[in-house]
Amino acid sequence: MITRLCGAAALALAPLIGAGAELSHDGLLTVDTHVDIPPTYMREARYDVGGDTALKVDLGKMERGGLDAAFFVIYVEQGPLTAAGYADAIAQAELKYAAIELMLARYPDRIRLATTPRQVREHHASGLLSAMIGIENGYSLGRRLDLLDAAYARGARYLGLTHTGHNAICTSSGARPEFGDAPAGDVGLSRFGRSVLQRANALGVMVDVSHASDACVRDVLQTTAAPVIASHSSAHARVPHPRNINDALLRGIAANGGVMQVVAYSGFLKLDPEREAAVASLQEAVARQAGATEFDSDRHEELPTYRQGLARIQREHPVATLEDYLDHIEHAVQVAGIEHVGLASDFDGGGGITGWLDASETPNVTAGLRRRGFSDQDIAALWGGNLLRVWSEVERVARAERTR
Ligand SMILES: [Zn+2]
Repeated sequence: MITRLCGAAALALAPLIGAGAELSHDGLLTVDTHVDIPPTYMREARYDVGGDTALKVDLGKMERGGLDAAFFVIYVEQGPLTAAGYADAIAQAELKYAAIELMLARYPDRIRLATTPRQVREHHASGLLSAMIGIENGYSLGRRLDLLDAAYARGARYLGLTHTGHNAICTSSGARPEFGDAPAGDVGLSRFGRSVLQRANALGVMVDVSHASDACVRDVLQTTAAPVIASHSSAHARVPHPRNINDALLRGIAANGGVMQVVAYSGFLKLDPEREAAVASLQEAVARQAGATEFDSDRHEELPTYRQGLARIQREHPVATLEDYLDHIEHAVQVAGIEHVGLASDFDGGGGITGWLDASETPNVTAGLRRRGFSDQDIAALWGGNLLRVWSEVERVARAERTR
């Protein structure tokens, strides 16, 4: 493990760790850049995160696991690029903003909204969790730049340009032929996408290239005035999944001063087509049994037949482990440098691996990083220092753009 030690960072940490002692997981500021929420989050008792839930992230799991801050995601499903499609996406996004606001209103003594890196640090110092807001899929902006301003006013601080399927902003790493998508090829950012990027830079919204096509990432790196993030992606050189970032683009993100948040999503950490096929046929069978045309994770995931089926598949084709995750982190650090790598779970959006199955198991990640030889300074950088640095830089660029 080759890491660069930073003198200033070492000095800053000295009071926390004392002479010869290791920095404890509890002493770290940990930031997860991608946590999903179900459509009925906070509105159904089973998704009220003040109590014990079946979700991978609730307040108790964050507190017990020392997961201090998370970006909760305004994800909307891709639909057609039509007025009706955009109206539906805006409505889906509204439900999620309202759900996060409900959580914040109900549990102000446990979690607070953070819209600046400084607030994240202040909340941590006062023993509070931080909720940040990220957008997943710029489809929910339709073709309206003013909706980005509205999202910023609501607290959103990163914009994931795409999801699966091309949109008005740029092409995706996963085309959706049913919506008329051709493979992305060399087509990246659209003209509207460039104006979105400019507006994000001026507002101080981090641009997130996870899910974007390689051509889009390339165009973003050439166009942006501020560092960018990949909020939840892993290393393409280790697992050639289209959602992963290749080494050339990873170096580009590092050169831009940005950060790739390596994600604990099994399918991006370890290729296992047999598992994928087994899960797909289980989902089909469970949906059929429930009288539905397709599997709906929100309604079908908790059915006993699904849970039992998944347990059987897990015995035969186990999900990725913490060691697979650490391999991707080490690779990213070797290629990009320790300052340009961070961590993300994608919990409640398909993320979760053996060893980091939910937020309560977060200390295992810190212990794993230490076993791999990362120093306290490295671990603090991976766990949030780098992301907060990028965020601060994005704020600085926005201030400069506004006074220009
Ligand atoms: Zn995603």
